[in-house]
Amino acid sequence: MALRGGVFLDRDGTIILEKGYLSDPQAIELIPGAARAIRLINRLGLPVVVVSNQSGVARGYFPVSSVEEINRQLSFMLKQERASLDGVYYCPHHPDDGCTCRKPEPGMLQVAAGELGIDLSRSYMAGDMASDIETIQRVGGQGILVLTGYGVEELETWQGDQPDFVAQDLLEASYWILLQEGRKRRKEMAIKKELLDILACPKCKGDIVLTKKKDGLICKSCNLVYPIKDDIPVMLIDEALPYKGKD
Ligand SMILES: [Mg+2]
Ligand SMILES: [Zn+2]
Ligand SMILES: [Zn+2]
Repeated sequence: MALRGGVFLDRDGTIILEKGYLSDPQAIELIPGAARAIRLINRLGLPVVVVSNQSGVARGYFPVSSVEEINRQLSFMLKQERASLDGVYYCPHHPDDGCTCRKPEPGMLQVAAGELGIDLSRSYMAGDMASDIETIQRVGGQGILVLTGYGVEELETWQGDQPDFVAQDLLEASYWILLQEGRKRRKEMAIKKELLDILACPKCKGDIVLTKKKDGLICKSCNLVYPIKDDIPVMLIDEALPYKGKD
């Protein structure tokens, strides 16, 4: 059986607000739309794996136990929003340690791939730093830069290979993944009520409704229509059309 692709996610600045060496589980705040994004990826049947650099351990800012406590709390918060993680990996080392796990080294991805049966060349990674993009591109997968966390600064000073997509946030990143997967496996992805219930406007995170012709999804707050092409919803902000208010 062919191995499946997976979706690797950075933690700080991608799923939760970047707070600089976070060590207090009570201070975790989910980025709006992040839980919904993970729920959608769960629904697509792709494993979701968090891979995080936590050099605060090697720097002596906090112990390994506090990283693990935060990761447990994050999983719990996501569970409450019906989103689940298939694996959580972190690198506790210092940038000068020369380890093989600190991103952009792909060590964590390779270990996860072995443990969870993932084909890295068919995988995605979303993160707010150039190193996140480089990590997945080194193993042949696709990298999505999110403009939360350090994303905007990173994009301004970008060097090297471009990200495969730049998303406003993890929610829009998940919609880009939906589009890529939809193109690969059209039949099983045909738009279903079940899928529609998970989707929200990528711009305002509000509710969307199907057009009468079933050829688009309308956000009445943003006055935008997201087209449905070949049965696949294109939920990307740049591809939305103005809503004329007649549907
Ligand atoms: Mg980050
Ligand atoms: Zn490491
Ligand atoms: Zn909207």
